[in-house]
Amino acid sequence: MRTIEAEVLIHVVKRLCIQANRNLPEDVRVRIHECREQETWPVARDILDKLVENFELASSRAMPICQDTGMACVFIETGNEVFIKGDLNAAVNEGVRQGYGEGFLRASVVSDPLRRINTGDNTPAMVYVDFVHGDKLAITVAPKGFGSENMSRIKMLRPSDELAGVIDFVLTAINEAGPNPCPPLVVGVGIGGTFDKAALIAKKALLRPLGSRNSDPYYADLEALLLEKINALGIGPQGFGGRTTALAVAVETLPTHIAGLPCAININCHVTRHATEVL
Ligand code: SF4
Repeated sequence: MRTIEAEVLIHVVKRLCIQANRNLPEDVRVRIHECREQETWPVARDILDKLVENFELASSRAMPICQDTGMACVFIETGNEVFIKGDLNAAVNEGVRQGYGEGFLRASVVSDPLRRINTGDNTPAMVYVDFVHGDKLAITVAPKGFGSENMSRIKMLRPSDELAGVIDFVLTAINEAGPNPCPPLVVGVGIGGTFDKAALIAKKALLRPLGSRNSDPYYADLEALLLEKINALGIGPQGFGGRTTALAVAVETLPTHIAGLPCAININCHVTRHATEVL
């Protein structure tokens, strides 16, 4: 059994909060460049150029990519041979507190959803823990902006809605979202499980490297089809038209009940931020 002091996580989470907010992952950068080359609508090309300029400036000047520095979603995968000594949640939240403070990142979290007092340090984080095999611990910080989170949707479809119902639900959600989630988007789709698990796998789908495909060819084809149909909607970068409404679609699935077909869509903007360290 390998022991990891929870205190170590404070420094890791702090680093990742700052890194994720300043540096767009390489796969997202590459995909934006690719889409820029494929765009035929001049306004869309111009906007994609501005997005590139923005994330390059953020990186070179050590500034956040967007004013909405997001709610800190922290995904932890801990091996079954790892013993975490100390308070994991407290360490993660201290890391977020220090990262958002030292990185001059906007505090965007209220302590209560209705009384709405800003906590002042972007805590608490949303923490997700998965147990895996091995003696490693992986931490991913994915700051989630709410312009796109607010456009996310979940629906308990009927089994008889079948594939067509899923496709219709996704396209309707993206169409209704329009320019609000700051396209071009990354779209995570969770199908199956329960109400809550469908939403969780949709969120985790946003962590997949852009350009990767579901390992099941049936769902890989669905990802390609959804991406094509979403880009045919013509919303375009920032809603000014064009073929680049989404950079990628990632579908994740779970077994589900005979009476149900849960479907969740977690939308992310072009600032699909995440940073990972493995201990
Ligand atoms: S949706 Fe994304 S790009 Fe738009 S304000 Fe929020 S974090 Fe920024």
